[in-house]
Amino acid sequence: MAPARKDIRTLTKDELRTFFKDKNIPVFKGNQVYEWLWSKAAQSFDSMTNLSLAHRDLLEEHFVINHIEVDQQQRSNDGTIKNAVRLHDGLIVESVLIPTATRTTACVSSQVGCSLDCTFCATASLKRMRNLNPDEIFDQVAVIHKQSLLYHDRPLSNVVFMGMGEPLMNYKNTLDAIEKITSPEGLGMSPKRITVSTSGISKMILKMADLKPKWNLAVSLHSAIEETRHKIMPFAEKFPLTELKTALLHWYAQTKSKITFEYVVWEGINDTEKEMEALLKFCLDVPSKVNLIEYNPIDQSDFRQASEEVVNRYIDLLESNKIPVTVRRSRGKDIDAACGQLANKTL
Ligand code: SAH
Repeated sequence: MAPARKDIRTLTKDELRTFFKDKNIPVFKGNQVYEWLWSKAAQSFDSMTNLSLAHRDLLEEHFVINHIEVDQQQRSNDGTIKNAVRLHDGLIVESVLIPTATRTTACVSSQVGCSLDCTFCATASLKRMRNLNPDEIFDQVAVIHKQSLLYHDRPLSNVVFMGMGEPLMNYKNTLDAIEKITSPEGLGMSPKRITVSTSGISKMILKMADLKPKWNLAVSLHSAIEETRHKIMPFAEKFPLTELKTALLHWYAQTKSKITFEYVVWEGINDTEKEMEALLKFCLDVPSKVNLIEYNPIDQSDFRQASEEVVNRYIDLLESNKIPVTVRRSRGKDIDAACGQLANKTL
């Protein structure tokens, strides 16, 4: 039996150059292939038209391109597109294109299922099957970039790691994907337009901060009171808020960039004065802004979005203390594409 062919996108540019060198072919062919793979997101060797047929055959003989396929595309009334994406081994993840008047944002997945157990999130009901590879994360962005050009006549402007999975539990691959998304030899996007969202894995935040990254950090806080957080995000017992605060202060010291706290207000969970005061204190300690997210109901859940009046009290308290607040309205709810609703429901 012929040996299994290797996924060519696991090779670095140098390794590609060496591949050609070893076959007495000019090494710049390696650069061309690299450009096809990352800058042009080519899905076949046949499409590499500046390579001779012999060279394309040679690549075909040794490698495969394990690219993703959009298995199903759902389009919402508000322009949001949800892609069910099939990976080379048949597993499925979801990614979402979110248009606003001025931007197109790609919301991408980092794991198949999720390592964590947030009780309000549909993805948590799928156990973690595996981490996505850098090229699988990259491909979601490349696909949405093409969809943005096709349906909205403009390039992709932002990327958020707010799809399925916990990016900091797939740290290396997430960083490798960001490298390819931002590199001039990849999609060339500015890192300032990328946001990594984590549920608060302190030790990985510390590690990432040491890279002095230019991308943004969002943390799904949902409560600044330890007991409440443990109730709704049980894994958080391993990551106490005091440690999270230390990690975030380190992030700020390294990057000078404020942290965004994602926060849903639920009836009977975090709708009290005590919760509001705790959040304010946390925000006064850590340079931050707050993104109040509308709750997207999921099946078999008792969570209910708090009233507008309670949400307004949060806003007033934060704003009167000069903490910037934004309110994220749900997008794509009619197709289960909103935050926390990604659970491969249609499949
Ligand atoms: N694991 C990462 C990224 C995925 S979740 C994280 O936790 O940040 C993306 C955002 O959606 C998080 O802020 C998460 O708390 C929020 N979310 C999850 N379920 C939700 C739901 N049902 N309604 C609204 N937001 C939800």
